[in-house]
Amino acid sequence: MSTHALPLPDLPTGLYIGGQWRDASDGARIEVLDPATDEVIADVASGSPDDGLAAVDAASAAASSWAATPPRERGEILRRSYELMMEHRDELAQLIALEGGKSRRDAEGEVTYAAEFYRWFAEEAVRGTGHVQHAPGGDKRILTVLQPVGVSILVTPWNFPAAMATRKIGPALAAGCTVVLKPASDTPLTALAIAHLMERAGTPSGVVNVVTSRRSGPIVSAMLEHPATRKLSFTGSTEVGRILLKQAAENVLNCSMELGGNAPFIVFADADLEAAVEGAMIAKMRNAGESCIAANRFLVEEAVAEEFSSRLAERMAALKVGPGADPGNEVGPMINATACADIAAMVDASVLAGATVLVGGGAREGAGSFFEPTVLGSVPADDPILSQEIFGPVAPVVTFASEDEAVAIANDTPYGLAAYVYSGDLARALRVAERVDAGMVGVNRGFISDPAAPFGGVKQSGLGREGGHEGLLEFLEAKYIAVDWES
Ligand code: NAD
Repeated sequence: MSTHALPLPDLPTGLYIGGQWRDASDGARIEVLDPATDEVIADVASGSPDDGLAAVDAASAAASSWAATPPRERGEILRRSYELMMEHRDELAQLIALEGGKSRRDAEGEVTYAAEFYRWFAEEAVRGTGHVQHAPGGDKRILTVLQPVGVSILVTPWNFPAAMATRKIGPALAAGCTVVLKPASDTPLTALAIAHLMERAGTPSGVVNVVTSRRSGPIVSAMLEHPATRKLSFTGSTEVGRILLKQAAENVLNCSMELGGNAPFIVFADADLEAAVEGAMIAKMRNAGESCIAANRFLVEEAVAEEFSSRLAERMAALKVGPGADPGNEVGPMINATACADIAAMVDASVLAGATVLVGGGAREGAGSFFEPTVLGSVPADDPILSQEIFGPVAPVVTFASEDEAVAIANDTPYGLAAYVYSGDLARALRVAERVDAGMVGVNRGFISDPAAPFGGVKQSGLGREGGHEGLLEFLEAKYIAVDWES
């Protein structure tokens, strides 16, 4: 067992269906590993397709009374959930660090970010308003009301096990939808802890259901086929997102998709280089690079490329790598050995293609899936590492000669989630921000996430937005009522 005790010792490890904690129908379990030591830290139920169907039944049974619950009351439950999460911030952060490998500092940041979605959507719950208008032809009034979409299946990844769950549960509940959450099998404990806290916050039975499972494909397919299901909200890879969109098409489900990214980080020669390096560290190294909005390609104007790269390499070399759960470490392990091996293969191929290793360059020997913070210089423009999601602490630097070239390289990808632009000329920075294919752009800053802002991508990075007022609208549908009240 791990050297760290599991926080929240009374945490239930079953499926949470209709307000009950129960075992999987066939008794299956998932072992949860600490990626810093590869040791088992807990085991949880591994739901079957039948359990998925039971969870949709429970969400469906609770749907009409939850939709009829006054928005203020729904908001107050979310507000209490926010407060409980903040009260248990340390335990939740330790749980995230243990099962996901995230550094304590990043894990604490994630808990706050995650809880803030509940505070934000507690406030948004009362803002799902419609409108009334005169028909242009004068024959009637057009009444538009917003109604909850209905039972929603939420599927989330391991890299932000708390925030990706609350970013969906918050708006769904605020809008009056009931949900079934299927968290990633590498990080099921955080989802269970959130459901446990929401139960204490007074969430009625069946409104939030959680099915942890190792059998992701079969259980999600079963839930998407259930006739009561009305929506899929998915965060994960573009590859899996594409499969689920096809399945969701069968019953014409409403879909919100938050998929993969390949963020360019563009640095012009007129940028404040110190600030650019600082922003690069945040955009690249938050969560050890395991983030969908992580800077994946550094595009630097020729005149400053060498200086930027060497300053970045110096900062990367100084990072403290070690188990996330030990305070003081800044870079934890990758989620598992396969992820670590994939990153190593990308770096090796890049070096073979002509890139230079300025710092790091490989996985660490010994226990745990640790990868050295790495900067690659002189990366050829056609290097495959630039077209893949690295999802690790590796920063490849490519040079460009003109604004047009920077934009062309930035847009040469099927992805379009985030982008970053550093320039001392605000007009240019904003012009480039408008020209890059991305749903979100950081101008002279490396940290962009905010529960009050619409988060999402264009192109193959997704459909829809989470957070902001837009996040609430994803769980509402407009109904038009034609009225004639003049005689
Ligand atoms: P993933 O696509 O492998 O898994 C995501 C979820 O889908 C997990 O719960 C997984 O169990 C489930 N899943 C996997 N295969 C499935 C299948 N065949 N049918 C049904 N469900 C299935 O992604 P991941 O490795 O957990 O997360 C990393 C990916 O998520 C990266 O591509 C990253 O960019 C993306 N991501 C995107 C955002 C965003 O907001 N756009 C945020 C975080 C992560």
